Amino acid sequence: MAYKITDACIACGACAAECPVEAISEGEGKYEIDAEKCIDCGTCAETCPVGAPEQA
Ligand code: SF4
Ligand code: SF4
Repeated sequence: MAYKITDACIACGACAAECPVEAISEGEGKYEIDAEKCIDCGTCAETCPVGAPEQA
């Protein structure tokens, strides 16, 4: 299981800076999580100001 970033994302970049495995990168209008790299730690969800990352 990996986290996914929903359309609520405002592309602030805060989660990408905190992800321990650099699984988050900037995509089209929002940030995206590489499911192959994500270790399901939940840090992005805790960091996000708008609650965009959700457990898939
Ligand atoms: Fe990175 Fe953890 Fe979020 Fe996965 S759950 S994208 S490993 S911060
Ligand atoms: Fe998007 Fe939240 Fe990450 Fe900011 S912290 S880039 S709003 S998912």
